[in-house]
Amino acid sequence: MELFSDEIKIKTRKRVELVNITDRVKSLVKSSNINDGIVNVFTRHTTSAIFINENESRLLGDFEKIIENLVPMGGSYGHNAIDNNADSHLRAMIIGGSQSIPLIGGSLDLGTWQSIFFVEFDGPRSRRVRVTIIGK
Ligand code: ZN
Repeated sequence: MELFSDEIKIKTRKRVELVNITDRVKSLVKSSNINDGIVNVFTRHTTSAIFINENESRLLGDFEKIIENLVPMGGSYGHNAIDNNADSHLRAMIIGGSQSIPLIGGSLDLGTWQSIFFVEFDGPRSRRVRVTIIGK
């Protein structure tokens, strides 16, 4: 059993931004020399998230719309009394901060239409995503 760990650095430019990090995760998998196991992708921030879904621009636009409807930016939230970004935290909580992907025969076992996204909810910021690979 081996363990590999590294970081992906991301600079976002908008308040809400979806960043496809699939290729960057794949290149870390390559450099890990681990072929079979689990790859965990974890955002180290309370106002960002990780999801896996289809990289289709209209779908990603739909996502931004439903998130705005579910947790409006101008809503009345307690946390805004100290930080004015409650919507960013709440959106991140709903989506979740990590994903695990099976690693089989040296490749991420993603389905044809699956991509890994880092989701910025409080940009622009500099972000760090931790990639941990456990396997052999
Ligand atoms: Zn806050």
